[in-house]
Amino acid sequence: MLAARRTHSFTESVIREMTRIANQHEAVDLAQGFPDFPMPEPMKEAACAAIHGNINQYAVTWGSSALRIAIAEKYRRWYGMEVDHDREVTVTCGATEAMAAVFLALLDPGDEVIVLEPYYENYGPDAILAGAIPTFVPLERPHWTLDLDRLKKAFTKRTKAIILNTPHNPTGRVFTRAEMTAIAELCVRHDVWVITDEIYEHIRYAGEHHVMATWPEMRRRTITISGLSKTFSCTGWRLGYAIAPEAQTAAIRKVHDFLTVGAPAPLQAAGAVGMHFDPDYYNHLALDYRSRRTVLCDALTDAGFTFTQPEGAYYVLADFSGLSDMDDTKFARWMCEEVGVASVPGSSFYHDKSLGRTMVRFAFCKKYETLKRAADRLATVRATV
Ligand code: GLN
Repeated sequence: MLAARRTHSFTESVIREMTRIANQHEAVDLAQGFPDFPMPEPMKEAACAAIHGNINQYAVTWGSSALRIAIAEKYRRWYGMEVDHDREVTVTCGATEAMAAVFLALLDPGDEVIVLEPYYENYGPDAILAGAIPTFVPLERPHWTLDLDRLKKAFTKRTKAIILNTPHNPTGRVFTRAEMTAIAELCVRHDVWVITDEIYEHIRYAGEHHVMATWPEMRRRTITISGLSKTFSCTGWRLGYAIAPEAQTAAIRKVHDFLTVGAPAPLQAAGAVGMHFDPDYYNHLALDYRSRRTVLCDALTDAGFTFTQPEGAYYVLADFSGLSDMDDTKFARWMCEEVGVASVPGSSFYHDKSLGRTMVRFAFCKKYETLKRAADRLATVRATV
């Protein structure tokens, strides 16, 4: 009688749990992927102005028109993709709500959803909440290669959707044009939705960001999910969105309405200001993250971890088997308590927990001084372990 069965088969977020443990032990938090540096000043000013201007009530449920217009313009400008802001965009409380609302809007109980693993932990619970069944295709180590034969075999009569997260959390893979084309062909052949997670679209060190909805025949079977959290360093503002064909947008908007009514109105007003930033902003963001990546990767290599450099996003999924025989959860806790650096146990990104047993994930969306402090502490791992 404690709680509904649907809550029994998933745990609370390990990523957020590690942040709480980090705080308890005053460890440097490289666990949860949120920046510890400020967001752009013009957006902060716009948010304050919106609040002082009495934008205090609900925005339109599916997003203020200013933000939806800014989103549509951005897709035209960056990706040559025509988006109807009135009929095809839903602004949500973060990409997290967008993903959950899309699952609830498009999937029936018993439908299968293909997830490439390792995967961002939300997709599993999202599927369970919708009564859908996640099926998993591994990205193969060491370079997180997508084995297209294995992917092909994962499609069944019940497959309704595939989640495509690029740049990919936690591996840092940026999927290539050839991989996107192969995925698109399979989805057309099997009449399957692609639900994307493109939240790291502007944080890239190699390759191009490919938008599945721009592929031939894919616009009508793709739900594009992204948001402002990572691009504008404002994970606490909770602004995300889903772009979908009109009929599916209608379903997504209904679910979204009854889940949250809407995202915060004054922050939507300020979000529109950010969406109009010129390309310099985005170039600078990527270059800046490139040097943060170097600081963390050098520290991890010196400390004895092995990994493939991320091509995008701001995580390193690193193998520690050269340092310790502990399992990932023990090792992450030990590092947090004894070394003073928090990471996320690799198993939290796998349904088969044994696959993540020798890995932990570090986030480098942190101030240089934070990364330097972490590097100094990581340098002590080999001697203390
Ligand atoms: N996406 C970020 C991560 O993977 C933050 C997760 C969260 O707490 N929502 O760490």
